[in-house]
Amino acid sequence: MTRWKHVSRRQALASGAAAIGGAASVLAGGSASPAAQSPATTPGAARRAFRAFVRFGTGASVQQLRLLPISPRQVVVETEAAQICYTTTRQALGTNMAPQAVIPGHGGVGRVIEVGSQVARIQVGDRVFVSGGPQCGECNHCLNGRADRCLMANGGGDPNAPIAEMLDGTKVTGFRGGCSELMVTFEDSIVPIFTKVPAVELAMLHDVGLAGLAATMTVAPVEPGSDVVVLGAGPLGLSAVQGARIKGAARIVAVEPIRGRRELARKLGATHVLDPNVEGTNLVTRIQEICTRPTTRPLAGGGPAGADYVIEAVGGDLFAPKVEAGPDPTGILSLQQAWQLCSPTGHLVTTSVGHPQGSVVTFPATQWANGSKNHHPGNLAGAQPKRDLPRFVRLIESGLFDAKSLATAVFPLDRTREAFEAAAYRTTVASVVSIQA
Ligand SMILES: [Zn+2]
Ligand SMILES: [Zn+2]
Repeated sequence: MTRWKHVSRRQALASGAAAIGGAASVLAGGSASPAAQSPATTPGAARRAFRAFVRFGTGASVQQLRLLPISPRQVVVETEAAQICYTTTRQALGTNMAPQAVIPGHGGVGRVIEVGSQVARIQVGDRVFVSGGPQCGECNHCLNGRADRCLMANGGGDPNAPIAEMLDGTKVTGFRGGCSELMVTFEDSIVPIFTKVPAVELAMLHDVGLAGLAATMTVAPVEPGSDVVVLGAGPLGLSAVQGARIKGAARIVAVEPIRGRRELARKLGATHVLDPNVEGTNLVTRIQEICTRPTTRPLAGGGPAGADYVIEAVGGDLFAPKVEAGPDPTGILSLQQAWQLCSPTGHLVTTSVGHPQGSVVTFPATQWANGSKNHHPGNLAGAQPKRDLPRFVRLIESGLFDAKSLATAVFPLDRTREAFEAAAYRTTVASVVSIQA
């Protein structure tokens, strides 16, 4: 494991002049001093200048940065576009003191411009996803089919290792950041794709859409003719609605407080849309009525009410919405309802985050102990990025997955803050930063 030795801001400033000298030399086609290079790097991209949205101290802004030398298993990607993941909004827009400068983000899509000496699967020129999660394929979790829990986050190294520095020498981390002209990450998080799909549409997949489609296609694949309930019609839930449609679900019930999102859910495949603020405490009963079988005779296909699949994509509010708020800002109510909605032998996929620290969900003890509901929690809803991202791209190419309708707000890099705000306050469905598209 390589760990970055801490260098104080004062030390960094003191050595800044020498670093800038090295940068100028490389940019002019010369070579930097040997001391500026780690032994196993490829010098071509070292000290390359680029711009990125950086959170540091109590603020965040687009900064001019210099790339640091990459390690042997890292890859440098010139970003085309990146979707803002709601999970990253607090990191990007928070006003607390951030002692470490960081490029917030959960990946993106772009083209490879540099590979480390030990990179095997990726070549310069490849169009790739930087995935919202790694898949090394060799750790214990990957070998057990749970790449969403891959143990090689950040290549197994220090997540705070810097990838770049500011003009004053301040080191910047962000091993997966997407709102940046360059992304630097380990090979484990890179998935090559061979497609002409526009970058803004691809950006619906690298993180959020990957999870939404995975919720219907990986750990609990939706069976044709089944009933699927999706709680929350943000970009993840709307991807799940589409996944359920693609898999041939008979009834798809989307529950969402924001009217525009409900309308989009219907366009993308929901057969029923419900407003949780209107349904109130009647929501579970109402959905159970919708999912009722045509008979109650057990030997004629009847059975207890409940959905075959429930996908929970609500979560706690990281920011108060500036549009219609849901009934419970903690997101706990939706977790409870998701369990109740699931049929006794159904599948429940929970995907959300943001619940208050220490909050608790309770279940009836007998059901928890020996009931038959199948619960599938997971990072990225159990996705295996190397397997799933290429096949999900083909769903766009074939017209089955409508990525274009999801990408409702596109911003240039200079307006990244607005992109984060649109996601944080839910004033759009999916917020994208387009850089080289
Ligand atoms: Zn994410
Ligand atoms: Zn792994």
